[in-house]
Amino acid sequence: MPEGDSVYRFAALLRDTLQGRPVLAASSHGPGPAPQVQRIVGATCTGVRSRGKNLLISFDNGLALRGHLHMYGTWHVYAPGEPWRLPQSAMRVAIEVPGAVAVNFNAPTIELIEERALAVHRPLAALGPDLLDDSFDAEAAVRRLRDPSRAGLTIGDAIMDQRALAGAGNIWKHETLFRCRVNPWRRVEDLDDTTLMAIILKAQELLRASVMKPSPGRPSARPTMYVYGRTGMPCRRCNTRLRSAPQGLDTRRTTWCPRCQPGESP
Ligand SMILES: [Zn+2]
Repeated sequence: MPEGDSVYRFAALLRDTLQGRPVLAASSHGPGPAPQVQRIVGATCTGVRSRGKNLLISFDNGLALRGHLHMYGTWHVYAPGEPWRLPQSAMRVAIEVPGAVAVNFNAPTIELIEERALAVHRPLAALGPDLLDDSFDAEAAVRRLRDPSRAGLTIGDAIMDQRALAGAGNIWKHETLFRCRVNPWRRVEDLDDTTLMAIILKAQELLRASVMKPSPGRPSARPTMYVYGRTGMPCRRCNTRLRSAPQGLDTRRTTWCPRCQPGESP
C-alpha cells in the first residue's frame, strides 16, 4: 500500500523526469472513465508534488493531473521505446517528454483537473495537515484527531484517517504506535493530548526518515520494522510473541506487542 512517503518518492522521481519539459504525447486507459490527457500534449510540466497520498502533476496550461495510488498503483519511468516491466493492460496513464516516458500502472484514481479548482477539490480540500509538508502543523493535527466524530475511533483507525492527518498508512500506523507504546485499540477519547502529540510527532519523524535520500555515511534511513508484517514473531524489544487481529473498515490485520502496547484488545 503506497503511503505518504512512497508517494513523496514518486513525486521526486517524476519531478526529475517531467519538470520543465514539454509533453510530446500522452495516453490513458480505463477501467472506468479515463482522463482526457490529450489536453496536456504541448504543455510544459511546471511541477510535481505530493499531498498526503495524492500526487499532483501541474502543467503550464492550467491543468493538473491528480493520481491516488490506493493499494496497487505505481509509477515507472522508461527511456523511449524501452519495454515496460508491467503489462500494457495495467497502464492508466503514459506521459512522454523528450528522452523519457512516465507511466502509471493500476492507479484506480487518475483525473485531470483545473489547477485553480484544486483548493476546493473535495478529496484534497478535506485532507488534514500533511506529515511530509515543511509547514506541517502538529497542533492542528491534534485538534483534528479530537474532532467529536473521531472520539470513538480506535487510534489505529484514526491515525490513518487522511482528514485528520495526511500521509500515514498501514505500515506507519503499526510502527508509530509500537514506538509510542500505545495499544492500537485504545480509543482516541481515552488518550490525552500529550500522547496524541507524541503519536503525531513520531509518525512525522518516521515518514521523514523514510523519504531521506541515502548519502555517503548514511546508506539507508528507512526505519526498522518492529511490528509491521511480523505477526507471530517475537517482539524485537521484549521477545513476547506479537499478536494480530482485524481492525478498521477494510478489516486488514493490525499487529502489536501485547506487552509493550498493553491494553484491552480483541
Ligand atoms: Zn514487546
